[in-house]
This record gives sequence, structure tokens and C-alpha cells, in this order.
Amino acid sequence: MGYYQEAYDAECAAIARALAVAARPQAWQGSYLHRCDRADDARRTRPRSDLRHPGEASDSNPTQAGTCHRNRNQLVSSAQGIPGNEVADGWAKLAASEPDEHGAEWLTRADGTRLPERPTSLAHLRRRASEKKCPEARTWCERRNLNGGYVLRKKGKPDPTPTRAEKRTASRFYQLKSGHAITGVYLKSVVNRPDDHCWWCDPKNISGTQQTRDHLFKYCSRWKDQQAGLWARVKEATKRGKQKWRVGDLLADERCSPAVLDFLRST
Ligand SMILES: [Zn+2]
Repeated sequence: MGYYQEAYDAECAAIARALAVAARPQAWQGSYLHRCDRADDARRTRPRSDLRHPGEASDSNPTQAGTCHRNRNQLVSSAQGIPGNEVADGWAKLAASEPDEHGAEWLTRADGTRLPERPTSLAHLRRRASEKKCPEARTWCERRNLNGGYVLRKKGKPDPTPTRAEKRTASRFYQLKSGHAITGVYLKSVVNRPDDHCWWCDPKNISGTQQTRDHLFKYCSRWKDQQAGLWARVKEATKRGKQKWRVGDLLADERCSPAVLDFLRST
């Protein structure tokens, strides 16, 4: 069909042409579907025993009419998983690409005349826009690099596990992930506290331990038992131990999300 067209456009063009052909009554004479209709009629008017295939032994075997009827249902259904669907998709891709390479037709008007300019389909524009948008959005996120710790997932879609958690836990998860959780480091950065020391394991501010995400997830003595549970589950799910994880990566790995959410609930 030419440049700037998608398989979707080729499918629409094929449907339009099929409808035009189907609208002509003579197109049905002798066609496969026409034979199916006649077989269906015959089944309704004749005794069932007359409709066996030669060599069929009993009435429990499918009759010709029955088989035809099922095949027609398969033909008109557009659901996935039908063997012909993959083939049709392959043809649509071929038809949408450059005609001179594959012997496909150029896109024409309904009366068959060539279009003066090669049109660009909406489906094609949409695909190009999303192809541009994804890397740009990723670059923008990476450049912002919130609090130095936000790690984007490799897959484009968001992790579904935290979205299913109760609101309180989910919001804590996303705060930690984006570097906006109420930690000592965060409070100091927004000038809410004079220092960033951990008030859990160092209430008298003697050791001066920084309260970072890393500290809370790995080292803070106040949450020792919960940390042990978390890292045991992470190791089981990923075969990687505590020391090999940065918290940013942990919060971006969907295999770890159930354990992380339970850790947040228990703390
Ligand atoms: Zn601490």
C-alpha cells in the first residue's frame, strides 16, 4: 500500500474490499460460504442419516453440514488464537509495506485511480508518536534522577504489585522509590531538620548515622528482624544477597515487590 501505512490499514482495506465483493450477489455463487449455506439448508430439510460422509459409521460423527457450519464460524470470528489469524496478519504486514518490493498494490481510491500524493495513515502517525515518546520520557526521568536514587524499570509498564497494595503501604512504597519518603536525609534536604541522623537507632544523636533508604532497609538496628525477613525472601526470589542490592534497584524489581511491601507493613 505504500509508505506511511500500517498492517492495521491493510486489514481495513481488505475488509472494505471483502464487503464490496460480498455486496455483489453473483460473487456468492459457487463460493465456499455459499456451499456451506446450501449444506446447512440440506441438513435442515433432509433426514440426518442422508448427510453422512461416505464411509462414516455413525450419527455421532460430524456431518458435512455441521463441519461447514463450524468452519464458517471460524472464518467470520476475529478472535485471537485462530490459526488463520497469524497468516492474515503476516499478509497485512506485507501489504502495508513498500509495494514494489513485494508485488502488493499501491493504495488507491475506491474507483481504482492512484492518489496524487502518498497518504499517511493515523495508525502510522500514532505508532511514530509513541516510538518517539517512550525514549524521550525515559530520558526525561533519568535526567531528573530524583534524589539520586530513582531507578526505572526495564519494562515499560508499571509494576502491578504495589498498585494492588492498600493505599498506605503503596504510598510509602512510591515515596521510598522516588526519594520522597520521610527519612532523615529527606527532612534535612527540605530544611525540616537540622541533621539527617537516624532517630530510630541513634535517638541521642551520638553516632551520627545518616538515615538513608539504604540504612533503613539494610542496617538500622531498630528493624533488624524485619530486614532479615525481607532479604531472605529477596534472595529466594532472585538468588542475589543483600550486599548485591542497591535499594533503588530493589524497588524497581518486580520480583522483590511482595517482600518489600510486607517489610513496609511490618515496620
Ligand atoms: Zn537507624
